[in-house]
Amino acid sequence: MDELMYRSTRGRSEAVSSAKAIVEGIAPDGGLYVPDHIPAPFASLEEMLHLSYKELAYAVMKPFLPDFTQEELQDCLQYAYNDRFDTPEQVVLNEQGPVSFLELFHGPTLAFKDMALSVLPRLMTTAAAKTGIRQEIVILTATSGDTGKAAMEGFANVPGVRILVFYPKDGVSPMQKRQMVTQRGDNTFVIAVDGNFDDAQRSVKEIFTDPAEKERMLEAGYVFSSANSINIGRLLPQIVYYFRGYTEAVNHGRIRLGDPVTFSVPTGNFGDILAGHYAKRMGLPIDRLLCASNRNNVLTDFFHTGRYDSNREFYVTSSPSMDILVSSNLERLIYEITGENGARVEQYMKSLKDTGAYTLAEGVGALQNEFGAFYADEKETQETISYFFRKYGYVIDPHTAVAASCALREDLNPHSHTIIVSTASPYKFPKTILESLGATPPIDAWDQVQVLSIISGTPVPTPVSELNGLPVRHTAVCSVDGAREAVHETLGV
Ligand SMILES: *Cc1c(COP(=O)(O)O)cnc(C)c1O
Repeated sequence: MDELMYRSTRGRSEAVSSAKAIVEGIAPDGGLYVPDHIPAPFASLEEMLHLSYKELAYAVMKPFLPDFTQEELQDCLQYAYNDRFDTPEQVVLNEQGPVSFLELFHGPTLAFKDMALSVLPRLMTTAAAKTGIRQEIVILTATSGDTGKAAMEGFANVPGVRILVFYPKDGVSPMQKRQMVTQRGDNTFVIAVDGNFDDAQRSVKEIFTDPAEKERMLEAGYVFSSANSINIGRLLPQIVYYFRGYTEAVNHGRIRLGDPVTFSVPTGNFGDILAGHYAKRMGLPIDRLLCASNRNNVLTDFFHTGRYDSNREFYVTSSPSMDILVSSNLERLIYEITGENGARVEQYMKSLKDTGAYTLAEGVGALQNEFGAFYADEKETQETISYFFRKYGYVIDPHTAVAASCALREDLNPHSHTIIVSTASPYKFPKTILESLGATPPIDAWDQVQVLSIISGTPVPTPVSELNGLPVRHTAVCSVDGAREAVHETLGV
């Protein structure tokens, strides 16, 4: 039997098992690991209608993880999707007028990152044991706001792992920052970078792919890995909820089994939407995937022109987890467009690194059937928050609002029900929500949360209320070029 293996998008590293791809996080040649083919799920769509979320996750993920035993994967899922989610089936499909919202923010950190980052720690420690790794694993992660917290929550106090999180000092919301600097766990370390997310992500990637650095770490008894969506172990759990959104739409009677749907996805690093693309390739009837961006609209331009150009002003917006100009996971899609030509991908990525831009020789025509691309500016985002509240009494967060705004712009055609991927709880961004609703936000973040609760008639989620009063445990700051030193200092090497 041909066992599924993982190849690097840059074609110069060996194919590896799923366990190895997860432990390494990124291929030695600097590329990203991709499966050498897209397998079919272990259940039919019809069977999926009756599965629990964990069972569904097993049916979707297991074909990608041939070297994990049934028991091992079930154990990972059992551990991940526990009672720290405030809903028994982890995700909720919430219908509002002509569209549905796939709420993915019911986990411990109130962002969709929990869907994957609650699974990844067990996947990684299981994979490390399988591949005979004896060193301590050091997770290096750059965050645009939500990944860092969700990763630390997942990895806190996991034996044999340390996690270092770099976040842009002034580029996350006050609530996101508060969540990170109060993080518990003796194996968690948080460092503010005096720069933006792209600076943080670049520094981390450079440390990762430097062979001398790897050597130095090995000597000290450490190996690096990543909890960012460059890690294939992050992407696989994200494929699952596209199937879930679909089966829920069938179970709610919004569509019939086999009907196509459209997903609108608030996009930053292109991980979430890429998982949707994989779901489609696994056979899920997806008509279109809408790539929704905020004012940092480099992807919108890319899908319209075939030119990726990050040489533009960087804006700090009300949807900070999408304030990204270099979307790492796009490399995996580019690999497909080039006909899996690693050398070609390498050229594009070199051009991106050297000049900040590249133009696809292959063109984007083939992609335009599947991907629509739009962006919403700050005003449109606020108007969309206001629209859904006034019309349906439903409060959405700014990231979700970007996707909703873009979805409403693409003619909602009756043949294809639109599901908006809802990535964060509005309680992470109370100030923006109150402003959008025309209320004057109180200065204090806790007061904002209280007012939001009263206006929306929803209870304050526990992960927010319990932040109040937690001590600040992390205060480290480094310069844009100081990440490497910060890593050495933290690990004492
Ligand atoms: C990370 C994040 C996104 C963007 O997801 P990508 O996988 O980076 O494209 C959107 N919304 C929220 C709330 C996020 O945390």
